[in-house]
Amino acid sequence: MTVQVTVWNEHVHERETESVRERYPDGIHGAIAAGLRTDGYAVRTRTLGDPECGLDPTTIEETDVLVWWSHCANDAIDDEVADRVVEAVHDGMGFIPLHSGKNSKPFVRLMGTSCSIKYRHGGERERVWVADPGHPIADGLDEQFIVPATEMYGEPYDVPEPDRTVFISWFEGGEVFRSGLCYRRGAGRIFAFRPGHEAYPIYHQPEIKRVLSNAVAWAQPTSGASVTTGEVDAVESFDA
Ligand code: ZN
Repeated sequence: MTVQVTVWNEHVHERETESVRERYPDGIHGAIAAGLRTDGYAVRTRTLGDPECGLDPTTIEETDVLVWWSHCANDAIDDEVADRVVEAVHDGMGFIPLHSGKNSKPFVRLMGTSCSIKYRHGGERERVWVADPGHPIADGLDEQFIVPATEMYGEPYDVPEPDRTVFISWFEGGEVFRSGLCYRRGAGRIFAFRPGHEAYPIYHQPEIKRVLSNAVAWAQPTSGASVTTGEVDAVESFDA
């Protein structure tokens, strides 16, 4: 079965800032979607301006993996839509928040922490190290790669201890950051990936495209076991 991916983007910077629009003429969502389509995924895009913030129940129902980019409009997501995303993750939908999507309502609710960091603009170099080389999200990468210019994110990153840390970044200014973190919430898998500041062509970079493609494959729903909750009859007889 083809994995059904929805790439969601607030789509604000591309409309308001010419340099971002030139970098991403089809939007950040368009660039990400194009890469995933090349790798054989069925991809649709949605933006904040679509009805129900682009994430109506039918769209969510039809989504195996939701890739998410947001920044300045994080507070503009309806609470009801954020809850819908959180519930879908618990039910098995994969969720890949990118860059400042770490401050999105769904991710913060799924983490239960502030998700705060330190940051700095200025276009410094980022060296992304693979910290978990056997992890499927690292397939096909060298042990490290460079993002030539980016916004810095620095530790401490106030998130729960992840199940796996796939990437750790070093920045030219001296800070480090856990750049690729894996979580499970209910039946769903979450991969939080740091790179992607809108002022640089990061989603056109081959290593980044590779990570996103690998992450979608990793985050797709699995059928799992069927279980019962609540009060139940014993499955074996016993003396009370
Ligand atoms: Zn940024």
